[in-house]
Amino acid sequence: MSRIQPTKRYQCFIGGRWCEPASGQHFESIDPFLGKPWALIPRCDGRDVDAAVAAARTALERGEWASMHPSRRGQLLRRLGELIARDADRLASVEVQDNGKLYAEMRGQLSYLPQWFHYFGGLADKIEGSVIPIDKQDMFTFTSYEPVGVVAAITPWNSPLMLATWKLAPALAAGCTIVIKPSEFTSASTLELMKLVEEAGFPAGVLNVVTGFGAEIGEPLTSHPGVDKIAFTGGEESGRHVAHNAAQNFKRLTLELGGKSAQLVFPDADLDKSVKGVISGIFAATGQTCIAGSRLLIHESIHDEFLDKFIALAGTARMGDPMSMETQVGPITTQRQFQRILTCIEMARAEGAECVMGGRPATRPECADGWFVEPTVFMNVSNSMRIAQEEVFGPVLSVIRFREDDEAYAMANDTPYGLGAGVWTTDQRRAFTAAKRLRAGTVWTNTYRSVSYMAPFGGFKNSGIGRESGQEAIYEYLETKCVWMSYEKDVPNPFVMR
Ligand code: NAD
Repeated sequence: MSRIQPTKRYQCFIGGRWCEPASGQHFESIDPFLGKPWALIPRCDGRDVDAAVAAARTALERGEWASMHPSRRGQLLRRLGELIARDADRLASVEVQDNGKLYAEMRGQLSYLPQWFHYFGGLADKIEGSVIPIDKQDMFTFTSYEPVGVVAAITPWNSPLMLATWKLAPALAAGCTIVIKPSEFTSASTLELMKLVEEAGFPAGVLNVVTGFGAEIGEPLTSHPGVDKIAFTGGEESGRHVAHNAAQNFKRLTLELGGKSAQLVFPDADLDKSVKGVISGIFAATGQTCIAGSRLLIHESIHDEFLDKFIALAGTARMGDPMSMETQVGPITTQRQFQRILTCIEMARAEGAECVMGGRPATRPECADGWFVEPTVFMNVSNSMRIAQEEVFGPVLSVIRFREDDEAYAMANDTPYGLGAGVWTTDQRRAFTAAKRLRAGTVWTNTYRSVSYMAPFGGFKNSGIGRESGQEAIYEYLETKCVWMSYEKDVPNPFVMR
């Protein structure tokens, strides 16, 4: 857990080779805690995209990967998982320096990430088609699954390694080849991962990384005719753009987009537990998560007591150097996001919400060089305010009161999003009712922010299309083929459908 000095210079990874971008240019990646450049990232353009897609296409159609048995693919995936576990410390340090994520959080994530490669490695040789008991004479009909093809995987800045893993593990298990484009703000860890991909023994061209800006390479990649599927995680606006490009040649598409998730605290909830759960939902990872529980829907009878406890505990959160194991709230990853959060805070004030905690950049000396925002709480928010409808992607909680359960469900569902929801109650009937009534891809009851390689994750409504993790994720990277084989003696009337 030490910072890399001096500035590190990366290359892109195409066709199994480390290479300079066609432009010959690099751009700086900034350490969000120090506010200084720490790495140089290749500025790829359409020419690098063409080369990466061509390499992925060749690996898909010819050579070792194309003819590799799924059991061997599974072995390679499991080997990659082992190498990630071996290098967890190093990868965690890179992510902290590039992204500002807490080292403690990254160690936790990296001890768990290999499980995705083990799980999908295990699944690789268990994808079975079926024989259809077809209703026609002398005919044998079966299905098989084939890789969807070349996948463009695009990730955001908030959890680069984890979100890349959620795409790579099932796509590789399915036999696809991949071009990854990480966020321009946090490309380093994905490039570091490729060193382990090489060491694990994946054939050249199976995984390729191009780095650069959304407009410069995201566009050519998502509109490339050689790409068969896009797996995108990011904001709603970029997602819409990507979906438009995908529609031009009907590329397969998975979208993991934003959220405005509600945490519902009922009067029978265990208050101490729910206070911690709501804190974990909005202040962990400095609120920079798609599943941030950014709306607290609280029953009016416990509103004051809950908020007193909440502010007392959240107020003790230690901000500062993300490399320190003591730190609980780190910096905002990018200056642009830092400004956006402050703009949202001003917007909430202008709408009449009452700021009862934070609401400004951090002034502590240990936060002086980075982009830090104090954990912030707004009271007296109504669900129709923009602060309750729009994703902030930062440590800003909106508190909204309710009286009846139905009112809480209606408000929870009343945003364009449907990614996650938290329910805090000790009443089992209420817990089941809430799980059914909430329109979200994940409902957590008496817990929040739990994820697993086994559990499908994704959004309803504007939060996305498709699912990552869990067995169904692999089918996002497969095409179903139906094969008909006749052993009839003759072709019956050729002018009539058989
Ligand atoms: P973003 O949409 O700005 O960027 C995401 C990625 O898309 C980056 O790699 C970017 O370079 C690329 N991109 C941007 N414009 C593009 C274009 N026109 N064509 C192709 N690619 C383009 O998002 P961000 O600011 O990096 O991340 C924050 C967003 O991601 C939030 O909205 C958050 O909710 C969402 N997110 C969702 C999930 C999920 O699983 N649902 C997880 C994490 C983050």
